[in-house]
Amino acid sequence: MRFILLGPPGSGKGTQAQRLVQKYGIVQLSTGEMLRAAVAAGTPVGLQAKDIMAAGGLVPDEIVIDIISDRIDQPDARKGFILDGFPRTVPQAEALDELLKKKRLKLDAVIELRVNESALLDRVEKRAAETRARGEEVRADDTPEVLTKRLASYRAQTEPLIHYYSERRKLLTVDGMMAIEHVTGEINRILEAIGATEPKAARRASPAKRSAAGIARKGTKAPAKKGAAKGGGKGTKKAASSARKTRKTVSKAAKARRVGKAKKAVRQAAKRPAKKLTKKRAKR
Ligand code: AMP
Repeated sequence: MRFILLGPPGSGKGTQAQRLVQKYGIVQLSTGEMLRAAVAAGTPVGLQAKDIMAAGGLVPDEIVIDIISDRIDQPDARKGFILDGFPRTVPQAEALDELLKKKRLKLDAVIELRVNESALLDRVEKRAAETRARGEEVRADDTPEVLTKRLASYRAQTEPLIHYYSERRKLLTVDGMMAIEHVTGEINRILEAIGATEPKAARRASPAKRSAAGIARKGTKAPAKKGAAKGGGKGTKKAASSARKTRKTVSKAAKARRVGKAKKAVRQAAKRPAKKLTKKRAKR
C-alpha cells in the first residue's frame, strides 16, 4: 500500500499517518521529520535546510527528492508507505512519478485532507502547547508568523498538486475538519474501497466496490463523507441519502458502458456492497 497524504500545515497529515502506520504495518515517510533530524544532526543537508525551514520556506526540490528516493529503498518501506509532506511542488510530484516508475512501484492514491484555513492557526497553537506540556522542544516553525508563510507556500506551490493528481485520477478528498477518529475511519474506508488493502489478485473486484462505496476517482470528493462525519442518531436518514447517492453513481457508471451484458454485470456487482454500506451506516 502506497499513498500520499496531502494537506496544508496543521491539517492532521502526521496524526493520521501515525494511526494508519499502526493499522497497516507500513512506514510513514515525512520529509519534514527527516529534515528536522538532519538539522538536529548538523548534516550538510541539515545545514542547507535549517534557515529555510525556520523561515517557513520550501527546501530545494533536489534535496527532498534525493532523501525520499533513498528512503523508499530501505527494507522497512517494502511493505508500503505513507508520504507525509512530500511531494510539495509539481516538480517533486513529477520526480516521484519517475522514481516510482524506475523502482516499479505503484502509487495507490493521493488522499487530500481538506480543512478550513481559519482552524489551522488554532490547531498549530494547540500542537505547540501539547509539545510544551510534554516537556519537548516546540518546532521553530510552529509560530503564527511562520505559519502564515507556510500557508502561503502551500497555496502557491502545493495546492496545484490537487489538480495534478485529480487529472491523473489519483485524488480522493476527505473532510479534515471531522474528529480525528472519523478522518481515520474515512481514510480506511477509501483504502478498502479502492482495493489498496487487499492482495493484488483480489483487486479485480475493486472498480465495482469503488462505485458502490460512492468514491469517484476523477473528481475531488468522496461523496459519503458527510454521513461519516456526523454519524450518531441521524445515521438512518444519512444512510438512505448515501445509498441514493451510491445508486446514482452506480447507475451512471453502468449507463456509460452502453454494452448490455457489461451493464447488467456492473449493476449486479455494485448492488451487493451498496446494501452492506446502507446497513452499516444505518447502524451508526
Ligand atoms: P512539515 O513537517 O511537513 O510541516 O515540514 C516542515 C518544513 O520542512 C517545511 O515548512 C519545509 O520547510 C520543509 N519541507 C518538508 N517537506 C518538504 C518538501 N517536500 N519540499 C520542500 N520543503 C519541505
